[in-house]
Amino acid sequence: MSTTSLPFLPFVRPYVDEETIAGVINVLRSGWITTGPQNARFEAALSEYCGHRPVRAFNSGTCTIEIALRIAGIGPGDEVITTPLSWVSSSNMICEVGATPVFVDINPVTRNLDLDKLESAITSRSRAIIPVYLAGMPMDLDRLYALARTYQLRLIEDAAQALGSSWNGQRVGERGDFVSFSFHANKNITSIEGGALIMNHDHEAQLAQKYRLQGITRTGFDGMECDLLGGKYNLTDVAARVGLGSLARLDEITAQRRKLARAYFTYFSGGAAIAGGIELPPKDFINSNWHMFQIVLPLERIRIKRANFMAQMKERGIGTGVHYLPIHLFKLYQERGFKLGMFPHAERIGRAIVTLPLFPQMTIDDVSRVVQAVNEIIHHHQQ
Ligand SMILES: *Cc1c(COP(=O)(O)O)cnc(C)c1O
Repeated sequence: MSTTSLPFLPFVRPYVDEETIAGVINVLRSGWITTGPQNARFEAALSEYCGHRPVRAFNSGTCTIEIALRIAGIGPGDEVITTPLSWVSSSNMICEVGATPVFVDINPVTRNLDLDKLESAITSRSRAIIPVYLAGMPMDLDRLYALARTYQLRLIEDAAQALGSSWNGQRVGERGDFVSFSFHANKNITSIEGGALIMNHDHEAQLAQKYRLQGITRTGFDGMECDLLGGKYNLTDVAARVGLGSLARLDEITAQRRKLARAYFTYFSGGAAIAGGIELPPKDFINSNWHMFQIVLPLERIRIKRANFMAQMKERGIGTGVHYLPIHLFKLYQERGFKLGMFPHAERIGRAIVTLPLFPQMTIDDVSRVVQAVNEIIHHHQQ
């Protein structure tokens, strides 16, 4: 049952402009639809955006994490430190290469890995850290890289949500070790599905390219060698053309997302939801690209659970999401010995976090409507 006549507002909606749609049609007519000239253009544009570092594009963000781990030579016996509050991609790929995921609890304000706790998780078996920039909010990259240098750890930045974000005036992707982006339909720019890995050395990029296409290297007209177990992770030219059109609008998209995030803070201030104890994200309009606007519900102060809250938002014509449930409590990870109680901040926030609508085609009035709905529901269910 719906209590509104307004159109449904999803929490995210992909954006592909008309110029890009026309470009896609040209690619489809060009006679070359799989990986080719559009993929090369997309990689060149991404490289230019990332300080001219080597870049390879892939058909997902998930596989870029696996490939970065393989390039770094990480496998059985190695430990990789990551966050329990994220999508399962990074931790699954750590397991996929045979390494052991080591979770460190999050900072409840930034909702990213807690840098104060990270050091104590480092052992003689640690090989890498995979930080995740939840909702596009980067971590303190100076501190993170200093720590990695001290302990000689590789960094694989899971920046799936952080294209357009920056730290200390530098873009995420512009510096550092491996940086991974995703171009899934819900991300800040999209190639429908897709991803990219930013590296430092051409020999790493050559390896990435081999892992991307069955481990094959070609030479001359008929030369071919296979000397590594590669998979099939290449991006089609059709998808690359979508990505190019989307990347061209990144600055505009980020500006609009920041404007909408500011409106959220303005409308929430002084309202029933704040009085009732909801937690807002860190108020950062410089570093974050505002991939998501996430609130944490005051579950101990209201009579409803998160699912009821989401259902009541839906009755008001508003979509919401959950990003994320704590990874260590999934069956696969419980079977590896992780238990409830190990990471209390990730568990509390994982139970109560809700993603509100935020995408560039939204208006300030849409934000007002969402905040009003949250205020009504929190007010009505306070105990
Ligand atoms: C989306 C996302 C991924 C996975 O990207 P895909 O392109 O869907 O494989 C990984 N990590 C995080 C944090 C993400 O948000």
